[in-house]
Amino acid sequence: EAHKETLGFQAEVKQLLNLMIHSLYSNKEIFLRELISNASDAADKLRFEALSDDALWENDPELRIRIAFDKDARTVTISDNGIGMNRQEVIEHIGTIAKSGTRQFFDALSGDQAKDSHLIGQFGVGFYSAFLVADKVTLITRRAGLGAEHAVQWESAGEGDYTLETVEKSGRGTDVILHLRADEDELLSSYKLQSIIRKYSDHITLPIVMKKEEWDAEKKETVVRDEEEAINQASALWARPKSEITPEQYEEFYKHVAHDYEAPLAYIHAKVEGKQEYTQLLYIPAHAPFDLWDREQRHGIKLYVRRVFIMDDAKQLMPTYLRFVRGVIDSNDLPLNVSREILQESKDIEAIRGGSVKKVLGMLEDLAQNQTEKYTAFWKEFGRVIKEGVGEDFANKDRIAKLIRFSSTHNDSEEQGVSLADYIGRMKEGQDAIYFVTADSFAAAKNSPHLEIFRAKGVEVLLLADRVDEWMISHLTEFDGKKLQSVAKGDLDLGKLADEEEKKEQAQEADAFKELTDKIKEALGEQVKEVRITHRLTSSPACLVAGEHDMGANLERLLKAAGQ
Ligand code: ADP
Ligand code: MG
Repeated sequence: EAHKETLGFQAEVKQLLNLMIHSLYSNKEIFLRELISNASDAADKLRFEALSDDALWENDPELRIRIAFDKDARTVTISDNGIGMNRQEVIEHIGTIAKSGTRQFFDALSGDQAKDSHLIGQFGVGFYSAFLVADKVTLITRRAGLGAEHAVQWESAGEGDYTLETVEKSGRGTDVILHLRADEDELLSSYKLQSIIRKYSDHITLPIVMKKEEWDAEKKETVVRDEEEAINQASALWARPKSEITPEQYEEFYKHVAHDYEAPLAYIHAKVEGKQEYTQLLYIPAHAPFDLWDREQRHGIKLYVRRVFIMDDAKQLMPTYLRFVRGVIDSNDLPLNVSREILQESKDIEAIRGGSVKKVLGMLEDLAQNQTEKYTAFWKEFGRVIKEGVGEDFANKDRIAKLIRFSSTHNDSEEQGVSLADYIGRMKEGQDAIYFVTADSFAAAKNSPHLEIFRAKGVEVLLLADRVDEWMISHLTEFDGKKLQSVAKGDLDLGKLADEEEKKEQAQEADAFKELTDKIKEALGEQVKEVRITHRLTSSPACLVAGEHDMGANLERLLKAAGQ
């Protein structure tokens, strides 16, 4: 095991490194934020694992992140005494990109640097950002609980391969040593490093310490003392009063918890008091993560209990249709040793979840009302996910229905911008239903022959073409006292919209054409239930309709595709 081996990066890592160095060139200092963020995550993991295994503390109970620099060696070192990594973990986490959604990310790359720079922000750069300022990175790490002789040293110039060897390390945790590029000497200064830390990492809950520097009047230069001082406030951001937190601090904290590189779209920070006491700081990202549709997607809500990190991705705290929400919930009441199993059963968690959902819906309602541009952007990214909520969250169904935006024949635009309230406001006199058509593409919906009579009469119809729509609409049968009615179903009765004269005419025609419709029925046999004369069509000769209680054609297709 002690042997030194050379391993190749995953092909994607090289591609990612190249792209990153080009796109983040003018924003290099974020490397420190990323490495501090990893150190902080590692400390959180240690604290959590130590809840069930005290020995992991190894007589070193003060978690901290240490930043040091060496002018002669031209290195900057970031050290933590967190969980550390064993050899296998180093290979899995540092030599590969294990992030879910990696495939989609690389598929989305266009080769056009300007476009791709934007994508990299959404993907997150993480550890590899070290190569923005370093031409060689050495990582020495020992997993908590392993003997000092089982530490691992990883080293790479970021150019295709890396070496691994077994080394000794007395303290647990990870040191990342950056061998600076030729033009990065600016970083070899306490002043510079401290200002970057204050800018990007002030919200980190652990102390970030550096050796003190002092002016030596005799030598007439600054000298480094052995004493350390904390650079950050090291208090949980969400526990501070809102009035003391700047928008920039909220934003940086988001980037840390969400592993996102771009600013969030909106956030809410609230302390809830009463039967359950908890603080929530919840964010809506500006962009959908690549793994929004992955079953295995990670990084949701972080759960804390009285400022102590308990777990990442606490799925119980947010329903699936709000899985894109990021942030922190800190409970005052839960026990510290709460496990995922306990979470599933807990009434307290149910209450916290209910409260958090209401907060998120409130935040969205506020955007929809007061910041329509932001809401439009939100809807583009997450609308299809929100639609799932209609069937998933019965208690909040009406609130969710109000948040939904549709395409409609009002403007025939593919962009979904029509709310049910907008629709109702434009309903014709005598119209008592909300009409919709479903299809498997927007073009097919817009050109559906079922729409002809509605267009002729100037009655608006919602155009539904997202995969989730048929399912959503099966749960949304009524809104504001009005039925939602498919234009492709059953014995469509235009009700008061059709005048008496027309109705009489139709009945007569049905008789007149009985011979013809019978013949067609005979020819089609089992394939149709019935053939009849219609006035729904104005320019197409014929169309298919489903029975009032049959499933829609689209749902039928989906179920068939799923093998049902
Ligand atoms: P992310 O933090 O979004 O997972 P990174 O590229 O920053 O992505 O890090 C990749 C992984 O490497 C982390 O998820 C973690 O498992 C591991 N890692 C990085 N830095 C450390 C560290 N200081 N201590 C322990 N593990 C680390
Ligand atoms: Mg990271």
